[in-house]
Amino acid sequence: MPALILKQGREKSLLRRHPWIFSGAIHHMDEEPASGSTVDLLSFNKQFLARASYSPQSQIRARVWTFEDETIDKEFFRKRIRSAIAVRFAISPSPLTPLPQGVGNALRLIYAESDGLPGLIVDRYGDVLVLQSLTAGSEYWKETIADLLLEETGLNTIYERSDADVRELEGLEQKVGILRGADPQLPITISEHNLKFNINIAAGHKTGFYLDQRKNRLRVRELSKDKDVLDCFCYTGGFTVNALAGGAKSVVSVDSSADALVLAKENIALNDPSADKSTFIEGDVFQLLRKFRDENRSFDMIILDPPKFAPTAAQAERAARGYKDINLLAFKLLRPGGILVTFSCSGGIDAGLFQKIIAGAALDASVEAQIVEHLSQGADHPVSLHFPEGAYLKGLVCLRK
Ligand code: SAH
Repeated sequence: MPALILKQGREKSLLRRHPWIFSGAIHHMDEEPASGSTVDLLSFNKQFLARASYSPQSQIRARVWTFEDETIDKEFFRKRIRSAIAVRFAISPSPLTPLPQGVGNALRLIYAESDGLPGLIVDRYGDVLVLQSLTAGSEYWKETIADLLLEETGLNTIYERSDADVRELEGLEQKVGILRGADPQLPITISEHNLKFNINIAAGHKTGFYLDQRKNRLRVRELSKDKDVLDCFCYTGGFTVNALAGGAKSVVSVDSSADALVLAKENIALNDPSADKSTFIEGDVFQLLRKFRDENRSFDMIILDPPKFAPTAAQAERAARGYKDINLLAFKLLRPGGILVTFSCSGGIDAGLFQKIIAGAALDASVEAQIVEHLSQGADHPVSLHFPEGAYLKGLVCLRK
């Protein structure tokens, strides 16, 4: 087994079970391993620390598969996949059979580092699995993993969405298309908390849908009765459809993507077209909020679910300005007693900083508000205690006085 020998003292993060080794921590290697192949991580004193996948082009040079002295082979991945699926059984009545009622039939089955499988994301949409391979290691084992996924779930179809930008850092090309089974008929219709959504797994964001917001969409449904709602960054209408189902008086939905809005309209029609009290605006939220402010528009509930402004801490300052800007404007558009549901999915902005930004926004908007609820990603996006980076989605429900 090729070995990476770490510099003196650089084993500390591994001893805390953090799964990444950066290039600067490596003292030397016995030989140059193949991209994605398995290597041993040894301390400066040649003590075994972990077994990992090797990423020659990435700053994150190795990602740990295991801290035990065990073989990395098909049976290793079977164990990991089984244990990830077991987590979903623990949190949901039956994640592997379609559930027309209840939680629904779309969920994340494997969430990378959080499930001990760095670089691998697998989402389930009805009977179709969508796989995203993000690192050299997950790419090296992809075919084995694909076979195992079929064996362990009993499903027949895997669609690949390995087109995330981070693959470039690993020196990997983008790959999109069928990996196992026959091309599924698109769009796929899933159910979520008794509502239906059409999902474009071939071209939608992430693997097609923001599964991480599932329980927060339900929360919006519960809070939206008789309210005039503004859904900013609405994508394919997740929050919009829930607000309408919850009895909103009206919903204005904004997104810059025309394709997303086409699906959003379809998703309203799929549920209760007679409940359609919605207006769609294709445009830039930053500009639109200013326009609404100048027109003295006001709302009872505003949802802000922007894209990642700061993927890493390096972009945090610029991102903070963006979050402050939209939240300040939203506070101004909120009627007294109104509710702001505001999110950040930026890894570079932690929950504490996000709350400070929102406090600053309320202050500058001259608005008194209280946090009545903290929101986060759903339980099918678990967070390993040793990998806090896995927690990225934070949300606040604020009540304007
Ligand atoms: N709330 C959605 C997910 C939002 S994803 C859900 O639960 O499904 C972020 C969305 O913001 C994307 O659809 C993207 O098209 C849109 N977007 C990005 N920048 C924007 C901008 N400046 N103005 C309007 N929409 C924007």
